[in-house]
Amino acid sequence: MKIDIDKDITYLRGVGEKRASQLEKIGITTVRDLITHFPRLYEERNNIKTIGEFLFGEYVLFKAKIINKIVTRRARGKLIVSSFFVGDNTGTIKIVVFNQQFLINTLKEGEEYAFYGKVEGNVLRFEMHNPEIVSSNKIETISGIKPIYPLTKGITNNYIISLMRTLINESLEMEEIFTNEFLNKYDLYNINKAMNEIHFPSSLDEIEKARHRHVFEELYLYQLALMSIRLKQEKQTNMPMKNTDISKLIKLLNFELTNAQKNTIKEITKDLSSDKVMNRLVQGDVGSGKTIVAAIAMYIAVINGYQAAIMAPTTILATQHYEDLKPMYDKLGIKTQIITGKTTKKQKSEINKLLLNGEVNILFGTHAIIEEDVEFSKMGLVITDEQHRFGVRHRMELAKKGEKVNTLVMSATPIPRTLAMTMYSDLDLSIIDELPAGRKVIKTNAVYVNESMEKRINTFISKELDKGRQVYVVCPLIEENEDLDLTAATSLYEQYKNEVFINYNVGFLNGKMKNKEKDEIMTKFKSKEIDLLVSTTVIEVGVNVPNATIMVVEDAERFGLASLHQLRGRVGRGSYESYCILKTKKQALSSMKRLKIMESSNDGFNIAEQDLELRGPGDFFGTRQHGLPEFKLADLMKNMTTLKLATDAAKHTMSDDPGLKKEENQKLSNEFKRKFKEQLEYAN
Ligand code: ADP
Ligand code: MG
Repeated sequence: MKIDIDKDITYLRGVGEKRASQLEKIGITTVRDLITHFPRLYEERNNIKTIGEFLFGEYVLFKAKIINKIVTRRARGKLIVSSFFVGDNTGTIKIVVFNQQFLINTLKEGEEYAFYGKVEGNVLRFEMHNPEIVSSNKIETISGIKPIYPLTKGITNNYIISLMRTLINESLEMEEIFTNEFLNKYDLYNINKAMNEIHFPSSLDEIEKARHRHVFEELYLYQLALMSIRLKQEKQTNMPMKNTDISKLIKLLNFELTNAQKNTIKEITKDLSSDKVMNRLVQGDVGSGKTIVAAIAMYIAVINGYQAAIMAPTTILATQHYEDLKPMYDKLGIKTQIITGKTTKKQKSEINKLLLNGEVNILFGTHAIIEEDVEFSKMGLVITDEQHRFGVRHRMELAKKGEKVNTLVMSATPIPRTLAMTMYSDLDLSIIDELPAGRKVIKTNAVYVNESMEKRINTFISKELDKGRQVYVVCPLIEENEDLDLTAATSLYEQYKNEVFINYNVGFLNGKMKNKEKDEIMTKFKSKEIDLLVSTTVIEVGVNVPNATIMVVEDAERFGLASLHQLRGRVGRGSYESYCILKTKKQALSSMKRLKIMESSNDGFNIAEQDLELRGPGDFFGTRQHGLPEFKLADLMKNMTTLKLATDAAKHTMSDDPGLKKEENQKLSNEFKRKFKEQLEYAN
């Protein structure tokens, strides 16, 4: 039988309404979602150990005889506890089993069984709780390689395994989107073998090969999508902006541009004056001076008779840009306006009129302005600042706004150049890899905190506050742990406010607040009505409070170094000596080692690379935080080699059959359309 892969999950035997709603929590609503719910790791149970070899805390597979009578007693409430000793000729271990009378009744003293479980107890006596137990001649039923799946409440690993088994053993046959020739050329498993081996691997080697197929497919399709977008963009023509004389603006600056800024401006100018539409990403570390680069790009648009817009993620940031740049534009006779969450309907419609009449040259605002019906008379350039969440979808949204609009995206997330080029192959890339001269290094200390250290830090903070400076204290607020984290942050705030820093104004900002409330608190901090701000990680990248000189990070080991670097960038923005204190309670050497990297480097790219080396890209490139494309299996950093292969393959396909029109590419084309429907609507 052939299962329709896009059928609802309830179509499967063993999945009712209740299960379906639990499965939905881990993103499974269709059969396809289930089959592509890949194991996150595997348990290897190939090695049969003897008791003498056991190490405390490890999971082991072993055979042993029951050497005494099984004792069963009723403990608290309904708990039934059975225990007995088992042994081989190297030692003994106590087995404890809870509430499994059925199993216990089948066990016999003196017989040999196979066990799998975790070695617990203490150095004097090993114990194992609720191991898997089968007779020793059936050991193969609990040995081998076991997939471990991402789970949620109510859904056990064994349940997922049983669903997968139904799918794979009985009926599911997936459609192969690649031709045999393609599979051979790139040495890929066909889809059914790849599915089989990833869920029920016959060896570790096979897992690698099966994963390779899936990763390749994901990256290949992703690259095809980017390339079709690019193809479309290249066809677009543009009204070239021939006037590139920026000297009037440059004269107004009270600093010299860095070489990196000059180069980036050159690249942008070249794009704008050409007859192709600009699609450029500017990456530059915190404080590298991206704003002025954006300002110059907008200036070029305006002196060529176009309008420009710059968008930031929050009202605070948008307002900050506006206040920073308006005086300069005023002097140049350029008319500016701003639309944020605070703008009233009436104001908005007035601004809209001005935009349509061409009486506004540059519009500042939040990202929301691309979703609203703001209309321009002659839009020539859209800039998105501090954009971490720009997947393919977001980029499409932007481009839709005006078919021929030049776009510039600015990001402070440091990604190594080669990776960025492949990840954003639909964008050109400029990197500002130099900070303005004379920047003060922020003195950074990673400290293990105990009570006396805590006191020292607080004394230090009070001294800075007495000098009139301001302080940030950031606590982690991680989604999985939100409630717990929020409680911790709240109680720290109360402690600071009521016990430790009673003579100062202590404020609290957290990720659960409404945007309006957050803005109010940030504004109070800016105007120094708040001296010390306790906050979960919502302090936006780019917020500028030059009077703030200390950044304290609680439980710093829970942050990626890139995030810590961004947080640290909130201080050292004025002329005062500034400090960053990274607190940790975790005594593990590895977390201290990571934090120490922050003491020795101030360079975002360098920190990002070292962080990657130490702990792999998972945390650093957490999709939630940075909006990198979400893949099921592929990991852009870990799978660099595959990424390269897939990119080459996609290039080949695009040059051979750009519209995927050929007969042999029909199945590929269908899958591509299914996956990138929205994007294609734009690209076609
Ligand atoms: P980011 O790249 O983080 O957005 P900003 O554009 O906010 O950085 O710049 C940070 C600060 O550096 C601003 O106060 C800006 O005026 C200043 N700045 C920018 N370029 C230079 C330069 N070449 N020399 C000195 N200061 C500069
Ligand atoms: Mg900025």
